[in-house]
Amino acid sequence: MNQPSSTSKLIVISGPSGVGKGTLCKRLLANHPHWVWSVSATSRSPRPSEVDGVDYRFLSPEAFKAHIDDGGFLEWATYNHNSYGTLRQPVEDALAGGKNVLLEIDVQGALQVKAAMPKAKLVFLAPPNLDVLRQRLETRGTNDAADIDRRVAIAAEELTHTNAFDAVFTNANLDDCYAELTAWLSTEL
Ligand code: 5GP
Repeated sequence: MNQPSSTSKLIVISGPSGVGKGTLCKRLLANHPHWVWSVSATSRSPRPSEVDGVDYRFLSPEAFKAHIDDGGFLEWATYNHNSYGTLRQPVEDALAGGKNVLLEIDVQGALQVKAAMPKAKLVFLAPPNLDVLRQRLETRGTNDAADIDRRVAIAAEELTHTNAFDAVFTNANLDDCYAELTAWLSTEL
């Protein structure tokens, strides 16, 4: 296994679906072009706008299970009836090469990363409340009503784990949240 370099950091952005993780990660990457983005694997079907290898590596359930069995995931979780996971090798290679690596994953996965790599920086993004989260999921328009109900129910459970994170930011306003996040990261990295 490649050893992380002494300066490289694994940064984990987690929190409920719809809280704005993806938007904040895109902004982080645009402003830190040397950071490496980890493209997750999933057994979920692609949405119409999603591109294999860019948004996710879309795998069959069998291919996903093969990666579980051969230890290929740094972390993986079942979220809302689908599997999602971070492939170990690209993350370890980037860290060994002195790069910071950014993960955007669910709370179960974030807790696994912390157990495997205690020096990882875990950020929890919280919504102002669950009604706002539901409105955002509805506005995003990528999930049907039953799926949104499940995502909001999962969010309520995820919000009970904030104390396991190194920092918690509430995303009421994207610009303010981004400013708070980057101010914190600049002291941690
Ligand atoms: P979505 O179906 O909306 O793309 O993602 C559902 C949830 O899975 C989101 O909270 C997202 O952050 C999370 N997720 C995406 N990639 C990964 C991953 O590699 N591992 C884990 N544990 N969760 C992930």
